[in-house]
Amino acid sequence: MKSYFRPEIDAMAGYVPGEQPKMANLVKLNTNENPYPASPRVREVIAGFDHAKLRRYPEPMADTLRDEIAGVLGVKRENIIAGNGSDDILTMTFRAFTAPDRPLACLDPTYSLYFELAKMQGAPVIRIGLDPEDFSMPENLLEQAADANLLIITRPNAPTGNSFDRERMRDICRKFDGIVFFDEAYADFAEDNCMEFATEFDNVIVSRTFSKSYSLAGLRLGYAVGNPKVIEGLFKLKDSYNLDMLTQEIGRAAFADRDYLRECCEQVKATRAYLDAELKKIGFRVVPSQTNFLFAAPPDEDGGNYFRRLREQAIIVRYFPGEVTGRYVRITIGTPEEMDHLLDVTRAIYGK
Ligand SMILES: *Cc1c(COP(=O)(O)O)cnc(C)c1O
Repeated sequence: MKSYFRPEIDAMAGYVPGEQPKMANLVKLNTNENPYPASPRVREVIAGFDHAKLRRYPEPMADTLRDEIAGVLGVKRENIIAGNGSDDILTMTFRAFTAPDRPLACLDPTYSLYFELAKMQGAPVIRIGLDPEDFSMPENLLEQAADANLLIITRPNAPTGNSFDRERMRDICRKFDGIVFFDEAYADFAEDNCMEFATEFDNVIVSRTFSKSYSLAGLRLGYAVGNPKVIEGLFKLKDSYNLDMLTQEIGRAAFADRDYLRECCEQVKATRAYLDAELKKIGFRVVPSQTNFLFAAPPDEDGGNYFRRLREQAIIVRYFPGEVTGRYVRITIGTPEEMDHLLDVTRAIYGK
């Protein structure tokens, strides 16, 4: 059949999300979901929600939610845009800043959705290869990215889990002639973040999500912070009612429970340290992680084999084929019990 699609769309493969298998007794460690439920306040909001309210349209700009986020961050409502997941924020960002004559620059390896969004725009991509040994940034990053209009720095990075020096990030914000977008999906598990650069510089956007640290991947909520002029431009590109009413109310309740968020992240970080240490005892190489996952290479450096062996035991992790990434698997931090089960199966596989 003749194709009526734009050639850019025909050339796309489309983003492939991590699988959500329906197997019983599955240990699911493949999409960086939180092992703990969201704040109990979320349950209260859902239980108390008056369904008759849904007859009305939701707040189109999510003003109440934005005010509450702004209050905690110490910025203004005008500095914030909310989205249907941070993927929605990314979609707006790509529509705004990339085109055939406005390339994207991003790290490699990194979050693969960026490559699909660039293809939709027909935008060239400058891949800035990370060091294959420790996934650090190249010295000449700014030179490599010079022709780009949008530079995405995933910090901490996925799937590698490591972060990058913060003062170096400040220097990049100062020198890069284009938008610097920090994808901080995992910032709540990290030692530091770049949020203050979103108001310190005119050309910086910092995005966050409720999917990982707030245990609300199923809700679809994220937000970005930046200069009011930049945020105003992104608002032109959003769907008219991109956040439904229930999502806005649930998001506000989850965001307000700061103590719960902190405790939950501390627990995940403690389990992360435990898994890191135990995997090293079995002979794994583990990238130092500032996220809720570990990027770990088994003793024989065959990530694909480890992935398949775990899968036979109903443990699902994420495997990224490739010369460098294929040596590793990415393991989401689960409960301590799930990690002990993973470790038992792993010791059996490697005869330890
Ligand atoms: C999970 C993830 C996202 C997507 O977050 P959503 O809010 O669920 O759309 C964005 N960026 C990175 C790097 C992620 O890992």
